Amino acid sequence: RSDGGEIATVEPSKGKPPVTEHSVVNLDHGDPTLYVEFWRGTGDRATIVIPGWQTMSYFSDLVGFCWFVEPTFEREVRRLHRLVGNAVVDGYHLLVGTGSTQLFQAALYALSPAQDGSPMSVVSPAPYYSSYPSVTNFLNSALYRWDGDANFFGGDTCIELVCSPNNPDGAIRKPVIKSESRKTIHDFAYYWPQYTPITEAGDHDIMLFTVSKCTGHAGTRLGWALVKDVEVAQKMVKFMELNTIGVSKDSQLRAAKIIKVVCDGYELSPPSEANRLFHFGQRKMKERWSRLRATVAASDIFSLPNEISGYCNFVKENVTSNPPFAWLRCHKDGVEDFEGFLREHKILTRGGPKFGVDEKVVRVSMLDTDEAFNMFMNRVASLK
Ligand code: PMP
Repeated sequence: RSDGGEIATVEPSKGKPPVTEHSVVNLDHGDPTLYVEFWRGTGDRATIVIPGWQTMSYFSDLVGFCWFVEPTFEREVRRLHRLVGNAVVDGYHLLVGTGSTQLFQAALYALSPAQDGSPMSVVSPAPYYSSYPSVTNFLNSALYRWDGDANFFGGDTCIELVCSPNNPDGAIRKPVIKSESRKTIHDFAYYWPQYTPITEAGDHDIMLFTVSKCTGHAGTRLGWALVKDVEVAQKMVKFMELNTIGVSKDSQLRAAKIIKVVCDGYELSPPSEANRLFHFGQRKMKERWSRLRATVAASDIFSLPNEISGYCNFVKENVTSNPPFAWLRCHKDGVEDFEGFLREHKILTRGGPKFGVDEKVVRVSMLDTDEAFNMFMNRVASLK
């Protein structure tokens, strides 16, 4: 080592408490701890060390399109999309954000207000991701406002949020509003091969992605946007400058290394599952889904959306989708509030009303640890 010093290791926090026989299983959030096993298996290949004197400047790239994007991060993200084939990158501007949550807000800012100066309506078909209404409205902005279920939207000028595969129900979605003055934000957090067949390379105006659900590094808080129109992209950059003066370089370098290891695993290493993140994820998700489907089929009080399948251009075979969440419905007489019913049985989930629908359905994370998933399966199987 050139500096001759010790690598100082700091003790990280441990995240959520472990699940024990008597504890509550928390599957309310989509905390992607399923992937820890894969990354443990990569040993030091995905480790980075940042000396104390590095990443100190605010600036990353003063000649590129966006001054706070780390060039190695941009390079690895473009490489990843070319490998997977889930989005067109040529001709697109790439922006980075503190999670795709920040980029979502940057996109709302860039597309608003409506042409006549009134607040832009923001809509998505129910069931929609529960953060959309709250993140849209929490600052009570005069630029845009949440206008609910896109299926019941009466106007034409709006931003439609297209989440595909959809959080919470896993549906594959296209925009439902047909008007010419409808703008879209495609939320592709889950458009990765472990969750769904990759059927086409997305080429929409604004596409949002996140390492949280792609590699499982939710704590790194890194997302990216592919944006077609240069003026929209510039306004998004402006939002990021005003909001946080750019995005952590340390996180970008870490994400770049993680994504590099994913790409190398396919392009440079022997084809084993220990090197292939999407194959690992697909196997784990498939195992969990077949166990859950078997349990639900054996019960007469629960149901799930039908399985969907298709030809995946990435794995080059027909695959069934393995959504990141189970959208579980309860048909038991007398159970009105299904989230409350499961809470009494020490299972935390998120109820339908937060997604704009009824109380007899809940969203359950399929991305947690084996311990949490197994405990959930045991408890659900015992409910009559
Ligand atoms: N979009 C969807 C559909 C999500 O489910 C999530 C995370 N739950 C996000 C965006 C935000 O992800 P992050 O801010 O961690 O990048």
